[in-house]
Amino acid sequence: MACSSNTYRITIVGAGIIGLTTACTILKEYAANENLQLTILSEKFSPDTTGDISAGFWEPYGLNAVDERILRWAGYTYDIFLSEFFSTKAARAGIIKLPSYSLQGYNGQNIKDDETTKKPEFLKLVRHSHSLDQHELAMFDHLKPKSGFVMVSVAVEVRKYLPQLLRFLSEDSRVKFIKKKIHSLIELKDKADVVINCTGLASRDLVGDQTLRPARGQVLRVHAPWIKSVYTFDTEDGFGYVIPQGDTVVLGGTFQLNDWNTKPVASDTQKILRMCSKALPALEQIRHGKVQVGLRPYRDNGVRLEHEKTSIDMNVVHCYGHSGAGVTLSWGCAKDVVDIVKTLLPPKSKRQDNLLEHEKLWRLIPNFEYVVLKAKI
Ligand SMILES: Cc1cc2nc3c(=O)[nH]c(=O)nc-3n(C[C@H](O)[C@H](O)[C@H](O)COP(=O)(O)OP(=O)(O)OC[C@H]3O[C@@H](n4cnc5c(N)ncnc54)[C@H](O)[C@@H]3O)c2cc1C
Repeated sequence: MACSSNTYRITIVGAGIIGLTTACTILKEYAANENLQLTILSEKFSPDTTGDISAGFWEPYGLNAVDERILRWAGYTYDIFLSEFFSTKAARAGIIKLPSYSLQGYNGQNIKDDETTKKPEFLKLVRHSHSLDQHELAMFDHLKPKSGFVMVSVAVEVRKYLPQLLRFLSEDSRVKFIKKKIHSLIELKDKADVVINCTGLASRDLVGDQTLRPARGQVLRVHAPWIKSVYTFDTEDGFGYVIPQGDTVVLGGTFQLNDWNTKPVASDTQKILRMCSKALPALEQIRHGKVQVGLRPYRDNGVRLEHEKTSIDMNVVHCYGHSGAGVTLSWGCAKDVVDIVKTLLPPKSKRQDNLLEHEKLWRLIPNFEYVVLKAKI
C-alpha cells in the first residue's frame, strides 16, 4: 500500500479502553518503525469515557452470543490482566484479582432446569473455577439460588488504568493527541493511511450503524471495605452484582436497551440497593455513594471488528460494539485490530526480547515522587 513519503500515518479515533489498548498494541508491533505517526483523536479522554464508569470486571457479559471470537479475545485479555496483577503495575493501574461467585435463579425460580447444570464456556479460560455443590450453595441460603459457580477473576479500576496507558503513550514522540470531535471519518481522508474507529456507541451516527444501541447501565459506587469478592445473582427485581475495586465497591445494575438517559434515576438506585442488600444485608446500612450512569455500546450482531475499504478509498478498521464487556475483551480485540493494520502497513521486524506479553504492551512510567525518592537515595 502506498504511504505518504514513507511515513506510516495511523489515526485512532476514540480514547476509551478500546482505543488506548489498540494504541499500545500499535506501539508494540511498530516498535522498530521510526516512520510511525500515531494520532489519537478523541472528543473525550479519561475520566469521561464509558469504561471510567464501568465495574471493570472480567466476564463476557451483555453480549448477544459468546462465540469463538469472544472467547479468544476474552482469554487473551484475562491473561494480560492476571499477569499485570502479579507485576509492579497492579497498585497504580488499579488491578485486583478476586474470587467471583455467580448465582443463578432465586427461591428456586427464574431459571430453566437445563440451564442449572450448564457451565458457561468462558470458565475454561480462567485459572480456577468450579460449579458450586449443595454444601457451597447453602452459604447463599438467603437467596436460594438453584445453581452457581465460582471463578478466579480480575477487576480493573479503569479510571486508574487509562491514565497509566495515557502516560505511557505520551512518552513516545511518535504519538500525538488531538482533543476534537469529528462528524465523519471522511474528515481524516488525507490525514491518515489507516483510520481505526474505536468510537463505541458513537459509531451509530459516525458510520451510520443502526444495529448499535445503548444498553443503559446505572451503578452505585460505595465504600464497603469488608467486601472482598464479586457476587452476581438473580433476584425478583432482576440481575444484581457487587464488584469490589481498589477503594470502592460497585453495586449494580441496570441493562436497559434503547434507553439514552444518562441521568441517574432514583428508582433504579433504590432497586440496586434492594437487590444488593438481599445478597449482602450489611449493604442496607449504606447511606452514601456515587450514582453513575453509562451507555454500553450494544450491537445486535456482536462486536464489529473488521477492515473496510470505503467508497472514497480510505482504509478503516472498525472496532466497536463491545456492550458490557469492553474491558473484558479489550487487549484481545486490540491484537486482532493491529493484525489487520499490519497487513495494510507491514511493520519492520523488531528484535526479540524476553519480556512478558504485558510488558511488551505498556510499562509504568515512574511518577514524580518516585523519581525524587530515587534521587535522595
Ligand atoms: C455501568 C457499566 C458497567 C460496566 N461494567 C463492565 C464490566 O464490569 N466489565 C466490562 O468488561 N465492561 C463493562 N462495561 C462496558 C464497558 O465499559 C464498555 O464496553 C467499554 O467501555 C466500551 O469502550 P469503548 O472504548 O468502545 O467506548 P467508549 O469508552 O465510549 O469510548 C469511545 C471514545 O470515542 C470517542 N468518540 C466518540 N465519538 C467521537 C467523535 N465523533 N469524534 C471524536 N471522538 C469520538 C469518545 O470521546 C471516547 O473517547 C460497563 C459499562 C457500563 C456503562
